[in-house]
Amino acid sequence: MSTHPLDAVLAGHMCSGCGACAYLGADGGVTMRDVPTIGARPVGVAALPIEVKDRIVAACPGAGVRSPASGRPAPTDRDELLVGPADAIWEGWAADPEVRRRASSGGIVTALAAYCVERLGMRLVVHVGMEPTQPWTNRTITSHDRAGLLANAGSRYAPSSPVEALRLIEEADGPCVFVGKPCDVAAVAELRKQRPALDRNLGAVLSFFCAGTPASAGTLGLASTLGFDEDRIASVRYRGDGWPGRFRVRGRDGQEASLSYDESWGALARRHRQLRCQVCPDGLGELADVTGGDAWHRREESPEGISVVLARTPLGRRLVEGAAEAGYVELTESDAHRVVAAQGLVRRRKLVAARLTALGLLGLPVPRFRGFHLWRAARLIGPVKFVREMGGTLRRGLARGYRRPESSEGP
Ligand SMILES: Cc1cc2nc3c(=O)[nH]c(=O)nc-3n(C[C@H](O)[C@H](O)[C@H](O)COP(=O)(O)OP(=O)(O)OC[C@H]3O[C@@H](n4cnc5c(N)ncnc54)[C@H](O)[C@@H]3O)c2cc1C
Ligand code: SF4
Ligand code: SF4
Repeated sequence: MSTHPLDAVLAGHMCSGCGACAYLGADGGVTMRDVPTIGARPVGVAALPIEVKDRIVAACPGAGVRSPASGRPAPTDRDELLVGPADAIWEGWAADPEVRRRASSGGIVTALAAYCVERLGMRLVVHVGMEPTQPWTNRTITSHDRAGLLANAGSRYAPSSPVEALRLIEEADGPCVFVGKPCDVAAVAELRKQRPALDRNLGAVLSFFCAGTPASAGTLGLASTLGFDEDRIASVRYRGDGWPGRFRVRGRDGQEASLSYDESWGALARRHRQLRCQVCPDGLGELADVTGGDAWHRREESPEGISVVLARTPLGRRLVEGAAEAGYVELTESDAHRVVAAQGLVRRRKLVAARLTALGLLGLPVPRFRGFHLWRAARLIGPVKFVREMGGTLRRGLARGYRRPESSEGP
């Protein structure tokens, strides 16, 4: 019997943990689980009926992602090629100083979500916050007001699966906001094609730049270097309270310790990111209405946080312009060249074709990424670097045992 493509994604280390398996497989008892050394993974997929697996795999970002630029010619400008299609680009921050300070970069995501709820009457926001019983992990959160949004502002560099909660949006009595990683919103973009009620109720889809999700063992390791064992940890924050903010652990006894952003993100990114992230062509969220990231090229300018903001759709552009008019965000115009100056992350798109070639040689499933112009981007690194990158991925793949199947139920 041949393996279903969804089982192949899971066995082949290509799951990003988005949560679509739990959303469409809920009636079959599928749930998401944090596997500390790997990431968020679905439990119970193997036993699902084939037709449910077919629907899941059609949306699964481990099987493929289709850029809105699919079918269009590659841009001739190399920065536009790396940044992807945008209706408008700005730099700026949340006008409310509390939002700006508490958030990750400029607080744009939180400010836009607040605008959608307070001014546009959107019913709820599905996003992500700390799991209080295991503060080194995340849970999917629903916020209905500014207080909820503010309490959960800030990036959390640990696995998350917000797509699992789309039923709340589908069953709401009006439009709602979804916030997620680029792979989450890629799943949402496909799921809304299958589910008319979901499509109708997705009032705004917001995302952020993403260099990869570190497994929760990364957070525990950092906490341990600060002297906190699992049972002592009361809360973990990765960013916020200034820009870029510090990695802060608070103990049950009220004691606190912290690391700088560079120390903490450096350690998490080096050792703990899942394989799917190494081949991700979409770190900048092409499938969102609006996406935002750190304006690192202006890091010395302000300790309060500055974001780059991209409207990927006409709706996204209207949302951002409306939020600016209503006094929720403060913006200046920007462009693809400044996004590239802000973000080392854009370089990954040039490396993805070499890495995917290596995955194929290792016998792993190769996700189908349409419209990202990956071979055109690969030309920017030239053949020597291409072969070196491919060789590096092959070596790492063999050393880390990626040819052995990842258990879909976790170890
Ligand atoms: C795993 C990860 C990798 C990142 N990599 C980069 C990068 O390479 N370059 C870069 O510029 N920025 C990166 N970021 C940070 C992100 O780009 C900033 O959050 C972004 O600048 C938005 O800032 P903001 O102040 O507008 O967001 P905020 O106003 O702070 O809002 C952040 C929103 O994201 C939600 N959220 C937080 N953590 C997660 C999560 N793990 N999964 C889903 N939703 C979450 C929160 O609930 C909140 O609604 C990363 C964030 C994460 C979680
Ligand atoms: S990426 Fe999402 S849809 Fe694909 S296997 Fe993982 S949880 Fe399921
Ligand atoms: S790098 Fe890509 S695959 Fe990995 S978590 Fe971020 S958006 Fe998802």
